[in-house]
Amino acid sequence: MGVGEGGVERAGSGGAGRRGRGWGGAWRGAGGSGAGRVRAVVGDGPTGWRDHALAATGFMPADEGDALHDAAVAAGRALPGLAMLEVGSYCGRSTVWLAAAARATGTVLVAVDHHRGSEENQAGWEHHDTSVVDARIGRMDTLPRFRATLYDAGLEDAVVAIVGQSPVVAALWRSPLSFLFIDGGHGVEPARQDYLGWTPHVAPGGILAIHDVFPDPADGGRPPYEEIYRPALASGRFVEVGALGSLRILRRTRVSD
Ligand code: SAH
Ligand code: MG
Repeated sequence: MGVGEGGVERAGSGGAGRRGRGWGGAWRGAGGSGAGRVRAVVGDGPTGWRDHALAATGFMPADEGDALHDAAVAAGRALPGLAMLEVGSYCGRSTVWLAAAARATGTVLVAVDHHRGSEENQAGWEHHDTSVVDARIGRMDTLPRFRATLYDAGLEDAVVAIVGQSPVVAALWRSPLSFLFIDGGHGVEPARQDYLGWTPHVAPGGILAIHDVFPDPADGGRPPYEEIYRPALASGRFVEVGALGSLRILRRTRVSD
């Protein structure tokens, strides 16, 4: 799931990133250059938020972040006025791409995370980062880094952060979403709960994006594939409209689809 050495891409490793944006390379989107492709919003424009995404601690590869952003912009335009929501923000890396898309389309991104890290982020696991441990309690706390990332990117106003357990927040949630990104706990039960708790809130015509989807077990853990991606397609409520790396973009069907 990681990026770069040790699975974590750090400040400076992304540089200015002026190479091809978004939808090139391995991207396969339904309908070639059609279906949801939006390039009008230039993320690395005057505000420079994209450089902050690239500099942020986290697990979102640049090309997948760009694809995520473009899919969110398309969803925000298709369903104006509806919020976007991310499950699993960590230090705010993917959050920057999504918050920029929310701002560009006049809405906000709700960012849900308990900020204590997933299993694979804990001490002794592959994706542990000692710099996000609260020394006072000896547990992870990514909230300060998350806040710093959004402040630096100038995107605080576009984000509503909810610090809590995803299933608990989902049980309280009542608003339809134009865009849902699931990148939270990758165990079987957390993934299953995120599927059940959040996907019903995607509005018809809205987008469900899922990270760390690995159809081949040799590439990574199975739960996002088995517990979110496959059930979503099998439900008939979603159709796949794009894929890049481990990112999958699904659209919620309309009655007429
Ligand atoms: N999207 C991030 C990476 C997310 S890592 C990026 O681009 O870098 C997964 C995150 O999910 C962690 O921050 C962890 O705290 C959070 N998480 C895992 N299980 C959760 C749960 N049940 N409720 C809320 N957050 C959870
Ligand atoms: Mg991920």
